Amino acid sequence: MAGVAGAGAASTSTSTPSSPEEEITLTVKWSGKEYTVRVCGDDTVGELKRRICQLTTVLPKRQKLLYPKLLPSKLADDTVLLSSVPFKPSQKMTMIGTMEDDIIVDPVESPEIVDDFEIAQDEAVEIKDKYANKLRRRVDQYKIELRNPCREGKKLLVLDIDYTLFDHRSTAENPLQLMRPFLHEFLTAAYAEYDIMIWSATSMKWVELKMGQLGVLSNPNYKITALLDHMAMITVQCESRGTFDCKPLGLIWAKFPEFYSSKNTIMFDDLRRNFVMNPQNGLIIKPFKKAHSSRDSDQELLKLTTYLLAIADLDDLSNLDHNSWQSFSEDNVKRRRHQ
Ligand SMILES: [Mg+2]
Repeated sequence: MAGVAGAGAASTSTSTPSSPEEEITLTVKWSGKEYTVRVCGDDTVGELKRRICQLTTVLPKRQKLLYPKLLPSKLADDTVLLSSVPFKPSQKMTMIGTMEDDIIVDPVESPEIVDDFEIAQDEAVEIKDKYANKLRRRVDQYKIELRNPCREGKKLLVLDIDYTLFDHRSTAENPLQLMRPFLHEFLTAAYAEYDIMIWSATSMKWVELKMGQLGVLSNPNYKITALLDHMAMITVQCESRGTFDCKPLGLIWAKFPEFYSSKNTIMFDDLRRNFVMNPQNGLIIKPFKKAHSSRDSDQELLKLTTYLLAIADLDDLSNLDHNSWQSFSEDNVKRRRHQ
């Protein structure tokens, strides 16, 4: 389904340019319909596209945004802050984009994130402070739908999908061929001690589709507590690395404070930058790529099962250095317990 719509008359609530945290209401025309989108001045074009995706299901990477008297290149840059765009109360935005609902695996066109990076600790602290308000807003806006109840006394395991559980860039007739080996065994074992949430930087439709295809949502041996998508992420900026997206666990902790906190949460992701607001809770998993050749040898999920179960009794997981998880042993746990 393709959609093109012309620019029409009017509506934003702000004069130009807006202050960083001022709310901006935009009317976006797409495929003959109008959508009202609320964003803030400190949101980026990339975040605006995610909100439009939520309303239209057109994935951000397929959206082209047009605005009267504005060079299209301005809105083609996902890192541009909306406070720098001179929106006028009397003008509407037009989105051109194609919705996809039949593509099962979309390996070719998903954007490849080239290099991951580490953020120095002081810069990470700065980001955490600078974006505290933005995170609070996300907590208010984003609803986590529980598929299964949170369980008293369980820790929380948060999992990325692409390159963590699934090789999204190889092609296969059956998505199961791209599933990381031992996925169901891993989830079954982890479920004994951890509630499990899956958080992917794509839209909910795709998260559900992928997880459904892999049988993760229907396996009788474990239950997934919740799925989170790109709308739960926030875009941050720092001097050394520019603008990038991250997955703030603080959003989950704020939603379920009686169950989860920085002390009992661990997150697996192949991108370190996703942990920038909670570096002590992140474990960088070796990316699962080239599924057809690595399928026979990849044992990461087996090894990580051992680690997860070894640390499951600890009171505070955030004391651990997850970077050296491979050298962690049961002895180490026992020593810590008796300290
Ligand atoms: Mg990933």
